Amino acid sequence: MLKTHKNERNGHFARAVQRLKDERRYRVFIDLERDASRFPTALWRPDDGEAPRDVTIWCSNDYLGMGGHPAVRAAATSAADRHGAGAGGTRNISGTHHRIVELEEEVADLHGKEAGLVFTSGWISNLAGISTIASLMPNCLILSDALNHNSMIEGVRRAGCEKQVWRHNDVAHLEELLKAADPSRPKLVVFESLYSMDGDIAPIGQIVDVAERHNAMTYIDEVHAVGMYGARGGGISERDGLAHRIDVIEGTLAKGFGSLGGYIAGDSVVVDAVRSYAPQFIFTTTLPPMVVASACAAIRHLKESQVERDGHQYMASVTKHALEAAGIPVKDNPSHIVPVMIGNAERCKAASDLLLRRHDIYIQPINFPTVAIGTERLRITPTPRHTEAHVSYLVEALVDVWKTLELPFTSARILPLRRKAPVVDCVYPEMRKAAE
Ligand SMILES: *Cc1c(COP(=O)(O)O)cnc(C)c1O
Repeated sequence: MLKTHKNERNGHFARAVQRLKDERRYRVFIDLERDASRFPTALWRPDDGEAPRDVTIWCSNDYLGMGGHPAVRAAATSAADRHGAGAGGTRNISGTHHRIVELEEEVADLHGKEAGLVFTSGWISNLAGISTIASLMPNCLILSDALNHNSMIEGVRRAGCEKQVWRHNDVAHLEELLKAADPSRPKLVVFESLYSMDGDIAPIGQIVDVAERHNAMTYIDEVHAVGMYGARGGGISERDGLAHRIDVIEGTLAKGFGSLGGYIAGDSVVVDAVRSYAPQFIFTTTLPPMVVASACAAIRHLKESQVERDGHQYMASVTKHALEAAGIPVKDNPSHIVPVMIGNAERCKAASDLLLRRHDIYIQPINFPTVAIGTERLRITPTPRHTEAHVSYLVEALVDVWKTLELPFTSARILPLRRKAPVVDCVYPEMRKAAE
């Protein structure tokens, strides 16, 4: 009897998973063992019993390779030795350790804001930040870019107030919506600086102009730009000299900074309100000192060092250039993201499988719902730890895959390099050598 009930219940889950398989949306994870000294090389354990082997990762969001940076690793290990594994509590109950206090000062300084607040992830910081800020403004209207990340959409949903979606990066549409709204009503404009799937960059200056004209508060997600853009790694808003005109800047510690966690930075009173009201902040244990120390070390390093940013832009430019010259369809953009368009879920998966199994190159296929149907792609993320040798091998492998799967080549274009080669060779040459 009991057994039948259990079978019946499990049937729901089996059918739910089957639906995803039928829609070609079922996700298969690749079992990797990252080796800090050899990044972007990692050990892959195939799920079919084949022997583990080295592959080159070309789709990591550890964009600058900071996860393996010697200073970052040293900060993590020494904090683990001194303070142990965990934080020991929530922020309110014994979990406010000195390392997180330092980190919050560091992120506030990074963006030139009065205060910072750290969460367990960037996803949580958007959920908590957007929902709490909007819900504390009576009758708030949220204006959200159409391509905002899932964490922002969830934040908007949880706020429980009215929302309007403006066409992606369409400032005229945003202004139209702002104009139509009651002028006395509080408004929150939420958007990203750098959209990670197409690699396009928001017209932040124009958005801020429009928001200021209509007395709207601005909230920007700089997740794919912090550490990587701006003279101190403060993101596109720093690069464009606009950070002081944006009310709340949200970022992650898990991508450019190579660690884990997320944050918001803004006026003290806003940060204090989120600290005091957001359940996603209050009722969960603080990030451990070793994680916090590693993030802090990465931020501090990237405030001073330009080498990683230069190497990153250079490798992204070289990769785009080489792929375009070979007739591989790269979607052009002004950032470090290299989207190679396939436009079909099965073929995208097949290309990824071939790259991995035949060429030891790992690039996860990006399918719906992460991107729209018909725009399936391989999203390539070069890092300063990739070398020109890596790039030329990647090009050969992709050409082979294109021929094998009979994917259409574009007519080869030779584009000028956008960036000059950086003067300094790479992040940490001793490790780069090992990778080659
Ligand atoms: C990855 C991502 C997040 C979430 O950050 P995590 O630290 O990985 O939780 C938020 N916003 C955008 C745009 C992202 O791509």
